Amino acid sequence: MQKQSKTIYLDHAATTAVDPRVVEAMLPYFNPQYGNASSIYGLGQEAAEAIDEARRTVADILGCQPREVIFTSCGTESDNLALRGVGWARRNLGKGNHIITSPIEHHAVSHTCEHLKKHFGFEITYVPVDKHGLVDPDDVSRAIRDDTILISIIYANNEVGTIEPIAEIGKVARQMGVPFHTDAVQAGGVLSLDVDQLNVDLLSLSAHKFYGPKGVGVLYARKGVPLLPTQTGGAHERNRRAGTENVPYIVGLATALKIAHEELEAHNQRIATLRDRLIAGVLESIVEVELTGHPTNRLPNNASFVFKYIEGEAMLLNLDLAGICASSGSACSSASLEASHVLLALGLPHEVAHGSLRLTLGRENTEEDVDYVLETLPGIVQKLRDMSPLYSN
Ligand code: PLP
Repeated sequence: MQKQSKTIYLDHAATTAVDPRVVEAMLPYFNPQYGNASSIYGLGQEAAEAIDEARRTVADILGCQPREVIFTSCGTESDNLALRGVGWARRNLGKGNHIITSPIEHHAVSHTCEHLKKHFGFEITYVPVDKHGLVDPDDVSRAIRDDTILISIIYANNEVGTIEPIAEIGKVARQMGVPFHTDAVQAGGVLSLDVDQLNVDLLSLSAHKFYGPKGVGVLYARKGVPLLPTQTGGAHERNRRAGTENVPYIVGLATALKIAHEELEAHNQRIATLRDRLIAGVLESIVEVELTGHPTNRLPNNASFVFKYIEGEAMLLNLDLAGICASSGSACSSASLEASHVLLALGLPHEVAHGSLRLTLGRENTEEDVDYVLETLPGIVQKLRDMSPLYSN
């Protein structure tokens, strides 16, 4: 097959193109307004003001105080700061060393939990998920112990798109007096981020998932929640995250989040219609395929499937030749041949989990893009199944 010259990008859960309006807002802070926000002369103060404004913008969207917004270098760092920062601080206060999480977290959370367990003696409890990937708040309630110092549950799953009952879990956590963190990296720009309505104490975001630049994130940390810095140095971010602020990227993050939340309803409606057309089309035109994640309570842009008798990797290569960018499992684990831990936690057998495909829509996608996938994918699946020793029709 000849590689198609056109590209249809259907991997918006992996990353998004930076919105030109965001680039425009960022540019002055590379040059001429390149000052260090810690400097007292005018150039530095211009940078400090730009950061202040960005912090207010983010705080407005989260419904929190600007001082509760910490800028970081990415979603991964935000997750690390929440887990390690609160874990270490509360343990030092003699509150215990037990953390509750789910088996469908992004590696930024799950590997951090495993690291805290292996190298720092923390205990981790994984509450189960059902076949759609939903956490039951009652299971969280039952898992809480006297020595539980933190609960961390993902807001919306990056592989299968299931949206968790965060406000209910947060209510349980609050009743029991345990700080609650949510990894909202996939929810940013798509779902409500109101931290009071969500009953969360800590929330992670990453700009490159909502048409902002890669390499900048946010950790919201509710006032009063103890947090030790994981990176020490200067007094930046009120002593919670040392390092000269990345002014253009912070401005880019705030601009991107503002635009995404202004356009949220119209965007979600349009994208969910395309998603439903894609899901219905795949399920109608291909046999032995299953939608993964919750049938309705899912991110508006996520269409994820498992196809029996084929490997996700082979599908991706063939789709790439056809000009379609997609992913199998999460972008981070797609280089490994291990089945996705998320799909296994949903109860799928290994061999089925290997045939996963995630198509995630975004701003620039059209009905024609969806129709092109629906014309192309059945032939690819059939070709790969015809080559599979496991498949007989
Ligand atoms: N959490 C979730 C749910 C994600 O999807 C990702 C990125 O894919 C991350 C955390 C990590 O964010 P970053 O790429 O900014 O480190």
